[in-house]
Amino acid sequence: MNSSRDCSVEETEKNTDQEDCKIKKVVAVMSGKGGVGKSSITSLLALQLSRQGHKVGIIDADITGPSIPKIFGLQQRLKTAEGKMLPAETPGGIMIVSINLLLDEEDDPVLWKGPKAGGAVKQFWKDVDWGELDYLLVDMPPGTSDVPLTVLKSIPVDGIIVVTSPQELALMVVKKAVKMAYRLRVPIVGLVENMSYLRCSHCQEKLEVFGPSRAEESAEIMGVPLLGKIPIDTDFTRFSDQGKVEEYQGKIEIKLNF
Ligand code: ADP
Repeated sequence: MNSSRDCSVEETEKNTDQEDCKIKKVVAVMSGKGGVGKSSITSLLALQLSRQGHKVGIIDADITGPSIPKIFGLQQRLKTAEGKMLPAETPGGIMIVSINLLLDEEDDPVLWKGPKAGGAVKQFWKDVDWGELDYLLVDMPPGTSDVPLTVLKSIPVDGIIVVTSPQELALMVVKKAVKMAYRLRVPIVGLVENMSYLRCSHCQEKLEVFGPSRAEESAEIMGVPLLGKIPIDTDFTRFSDQGKVEEYQGKIEIKLNF
């Protein structure tokens, strides 16, 4: 882990006043559309970093479709102490804040648009006692519209990971993500292609279920590293659907060098 963030820097429109800045890196995970596995990749990355010995937190910034608490099997409401919200802690020690952990019922709909969603996420940064973290991952709202833009402006993000799948209109998404990152002056740290292939359990052949991979091509256009080609793994679906993602032992590697 290299140096911690420079909290003294005054950044336009960004809020850097998480007290004493005990959070070393803030990494946003975004995708061009829903369903490509952005929350799954956020969870897998959190698991990987935590198993490597890092202290990890997740802001579930997908305000209208929060799924992080479900993947980790969290149900308890968030508590407060001394005027600050306290993150929920998973059995494996990952700290999580999500709108779902504030709602009366987890299936209550959240109909907020950009500014209000951004406001909630800003509070998840500012008004939460995160303690010391090596990595704070932000599971972004899908797309590259105003909502994720507002969210990105609300938190001082150090880098963005873009998640795609082979069936996505990869190039268009990539270009939009690059444009957004450029506008906000946040570096894209890499690309992850999710659902890249399925390994046949009988003959071990790699099946390109959603068509041929475009990962290398997209990463090259973006000029960023390819952090991983993640297979479809039904074990993962099962564990995350049951809220037991921390019991998943699949050998998945996201090569985050950040
Ligand atoms: P998003 O956050 O982009 O909307 P999710 O992470 O919620 O997408 O994933 C959508 C669905 O696909 C979930 O049911 C999830 O378990 C499943 N899924 C995502 N990635 C994988 C994968 N690599 N292998 C198996 N299932 C996956």
